[in-house]
Amino acid sequence: MRPLKVIVDQTSLRHNLAIVKQLAPKSKIMSVVKANGYGHGLINVAQGLSESDGFAVLALNEAIDLREHGFEQDILLLEGAFESYEISIAAKMRFNLVVHNLHQLQMIEKLKLNHPIDIHFKINTGMNRLGFNPNEAKEILKTLQNKSHFKSITLMTHFATADEPKGIDWQLTVFNDIAQHFNFSHSVANSASIVNFKKTHLDWVRPGIMLYGASPIMGQKSSALNIKPVMQLKSKIIAIQNLSKDDSVGYGETFKANNNMRIGVVACGYADGYPRHAPNGTPVYVEGKKTSTVGRVSMDMLYIDVTNIPQASISSDVELWGEHIPVDDVAEKAGTVGYELLCAISASKRVPIEIIHG
Ligand SMILES: *Cc1c(COP(=O)(O)O)cnc(C)c1O
Repeated sequence: MRPLKVIVDQTSLRHNLAIVKQLAPKSKIMSVVKANGYGHGLINVAQGLSESDGFAVLALNEAIDLREHGFEQDILLLEGAFESYEISIAAKMRFNLVVHNLHQLQMIEKLKLNHPIDIHFKINTGMNRLGFNPNEAKEILKTLQNKSHFKSITLMTHFATADEPKGIDWQLTVFNDIAQHFNFSHSVANSASIVNFKKTHLDWVRPGIMLYGASPIMGQKSSALNIKPVMQLKSKIIAIQNLSKDDSVGYGETFKANNNMRIGVVACGYADGYPRHAPNGTPVYVEGKKTSTVGRVSMDMLYIDVTNIPQASISSDVELWGEHIPVDDVAEKAGTVGYELLCAISASKRVPIEIIHG
């Protein structure tokens, strides 16, 4: 069997959830498990995060999957209903729906629901992705207060710059200006905001990336937050090549040897989700040592420098990221973020997942 695999450690998920609890002890935790649990497998992740007060997903089928696996917590559909039939199912299965525009609101109000529904009313406070215009939100909310369609209303918004110097005040002010007029619950904080801004720890917090042990803040190490990587991407060396000075390796000759070199060919490529843009010098870990990639990443293989690691040979274990190589370090080299790399592995659908239960 091809040696490439992902190992998902549920004990690290538990640990990272406990860190969120320490940071925001008074808030309920809505663990964000969209995108197949950020690429780790939805149910694997939900089991590791079973102490969460709720789960947030994108689509109805993910919410149903969670219920069918026995998760009784609140389950929030982050973009709400796309079509009307989804609303009745959501009401019946006790899913919470984001409502982010009038179209969605009208779809709900047109239905005769046997079960009133819990909604998260989303306000666009400046990110300009989803949400009601803040100038209209107050009036619309007033019309909802006494409608039998709604069991509960939570006000939510999403921050665009919680990980940047601009911070969140410019958006939180807009949110509070509306929220102060009502007696609803509040949910505003993603991981970066949980880490950076205590005042955003309201009734709910919505951590995603930090639960998976990657840093929500560019340039800040996950180890500084005391969170542990959940995913290990592991493979093996499947061939060794010996280069002389001026020999190249891989497509396009993007790397040339200055001296004699030993190269390990590793079973992992961009078709598995490893970033093709990872340049020469992207870190990897083999035989207890850190080394780096050389040459252009191929579809199914990549190349690593093992010149100074004589014990590296065919069948040597290679960690592409995980315990020794933070996914954020690979992402930084490749000009992206840990989020994208974690998701890409599962999107490739060809890397088997092994679970460390806990
Ligand atoms: C994805 C998402 C989150 C989690 O964000 P992280 O940066 O991964 O913590 C929170 N809220 C909403 C609305 C999201 O879409």
